[in-house]
Amino acid sequence: MPKFSDRVERISISGIREVFEAAGDDAINLGIGQPDFPTPDHARQAAIDAIQSGKADAYTANKGIAPLREAIAEKHRRDQGIDLEPSNVIATAGGSEGLHIALEAHVGAGDEVIVPDPGFVSYDALTKLAGADPVPVPLRDDDTIDPEAIEAAITDDTAAFVVNSPGNPTGAVSSEADVRAFARIADEHDVLCLSDEVYEYTLFEGNHYSPAEFADGDSVVVVNSASKLFSMTGWRLGWVYGSAERVDRMLRVHQYAQACASAPAQYAAEAALRGDHDVVEEMTASFERRRDILLDGLADAGIECPAPSGAFYAMPRVPEGFVGACLDRGVIVVPGDAFGEHGRGTARISYATDESDLREAVSIMAEAYEAVR
Ligand code: PLP
Repeated sequence: MPKFSDRVERISISGIREVFEAAGDDAINLGIGQPDFPTPDHARQAAIDAIQSGKADAYTANKGIAPLREAIAEKHRRDQGIDLEPSNVIATAGGSEGLHIALEAHVGAGDEVIVPDPGFVSYDALTKLAGADPVPVPLRDDDTIDPEAIEAAITDDTAAFVVNSPGNPTGAVSSEADVRAFARIADEHDVLCLSDEVYEYTLFEGNHYSPAEFADGDSVVVVNSASKLFSMTGWRLGWVYGSAERVDRMLRVHQYAQACASAPAQYAAEAALRGDHDVVEEMTASFERRRDILLDGLADAGIECPAPSGAFYAMPRVPEGFVGACLDRGVIVVPGDAFGEHGRGTARISYATDESDLREAVSIMAEAYEAVR
């Protein structure tokens, strides 16, 4: 039998899938990591126009169409004050491909990549696929990523560390001081800071900061995506940016693996970036309301949960058996250890679900908690 690569044998299908498969069809799903809003009309229309005019029929430039990369560069200039050239942006098949090409271009066999634990499942898997070893670093008690823990984990083999704010699975948001520390650590230790900012717009208090604002050198690569910013998960359109040299290396991977991001999606994302952001504001306000419903309900049930300040996730501390007890009662939540060893004893709740289902789910979770505590 033809063999499989050692690299692919080190990874498996995400634990999140297993929970979905175990649940009944009418379960309330608090497991899904995507906004429950329609894609803005102006984005849909731009894709329709591009398709109808024939503009989207052919390959685009490998990095993506110039107007999209200009819109991305303008966005980061406006939102973060980053002096970004469109030539330093690659449009990718979602943030997922951005993470993939960033890791492929920067880490290799025997290297170490420091990842938050619990953290988004792709960091661990894509590190292994690149032949490198993930080094999980626990979060602080408030679920934020601790720069000191990252610095302490750096060895001669460290090629990169991943930061993610607002964070999945925690909803935690890094402070400006922490983000400045991420930049300093990358500069001082000559390790890449890979900053995953795909939840940037879903922020309930404070501001979003990127290590790219503060790094002196060329030590930061940023991944972002239309998926969560504009409720466009199905379009598969993200981007990655960094210095010209880093983009050159990432483009080598992107060119052979992808050629270019989907052309209709590129036109749609350009329109989303340039169009009014009413949908973004509406989504954020709605997620904040739902966060409060969830936090109030968990507090009433006596379930301890750090208050998330962004994204649409929360990670309550739960007893053994809680996830199963929720599933038995028709509510899907994801066990925290699907996101890393240190996620044990927690569950990830995605509250991107409608308010009445969320209220019902909260009372079911309270019952489940009573049954297992
Ligand atoms: N980064 C984080 C933290 C995520 O949660 C996700 C999706 O859930 C992604 C990246 C990838 O998103 P996409 O490929 O849809 O842009």
